[in-house]
Amino acid sequence: MNIVFLGAPGAGKGTQAARVAEELKLVHLATGDLFRQAQAQGTRLGLLAKSYMERGALVPDEVTISMVLERISAPDAKGGVIFDGFPRSLKQAEALDKALTEQGETLDRVIYIKVSEGELLKRLGGRWICRQCQAPYHEVSSPPKVAGKCDRCGGELYQRPDDTEATVKKRLVTYFAETALLIDYYTRSGKLTEVAGEGDVDEVRERIMQALKGEFVRPR
Ligand code: AMP
Repeated sequence: MNIVFLGAPGAGKGTQAARVAEELKLVHLATGDLFRQAQAQGTRLGLLAKSYMERGALVPDEVTISMVLERISAPDAKGGVIFDGFPRSLKQAEALDKALTEQGETLDRVIYIKVSEGELLKRLGGRWICRQCQAPYHEVSSPPKVAGKCDRCGGELYQRPDDTEATVKKRLVTYFAETALLIDYYTRSGKLTEVAGEGDVDEVRERIMQALKGEFVRPR
C-alpha cells in the first residue's frame, strides 16, 4: 500500500498525510521533514539541503532520491508508505516507480490535493510548525490551544524560514515549473485522484479517505 500525496506548498499535504498514515498504519515519509531534521543535526546532507531550501529551490534529484531509497528499504516501510513532498520532479517519480518495482511493490494511488493560488499564499503566511514533532498549525484556521505550544507533544512552535513571503513565492514558482508536471505523469498512469483541498481539515481528510476507499481501506 503505497500512496503519493501531491500538491503545492500549503495545500495541506503534511497535515493530511500525517493523519491518513496514522489511520492506515503506514509510514509517513516527508522529504521536507527529513531535510529539516538533517539540518537540525548539522549533518552534511542538512547543510547541503539548507542552501536550496533557503532559496525555495529543489534539492538535487540524486541527493533526494538516495535519501528516499534508503528510507524505504527499512523494514518498517514494508507495510506501506505515504510519500509527502516526494516525488517533486519527473526524475524522482521515475526513480520511485523503478525502486518499488525492484522491491516487488507498486505505487497504488496518487492523491492530488488541489487548492487555489490565493488560498496557498494565505495559508503559508500564518503557518507555525512544532520543532519536535513537525505538527503544523495555522494562526487563523487551526491555532494551537496554548499560543506557541504544540497540542500533541508540548513542543515549541516556530515559523519555517522558507515561509517568508519572498521564498513562498519562489516555492510556488518551482512547484508550477517542476512538480505540476507530475499531475500529467500520474494521470496518464491512471493513478491520480484529485481531491478539493479547500475547507475544513476534517472535511478534506474525509474526501481523501473516500478517494482511497474500496482500494485499500480495510475494516480494522
Ligand atoms: P516541504 O516541507 O515539503 O515544503 O519542503 C521544504 C523544502 O525542502 C522544499 O522547498 C525543497 O527545497 C526541499 N524538498 C522537499 N522535498 C523535496 C523533494 N522531493 N525534492 C527536492 N527538494 C525537496
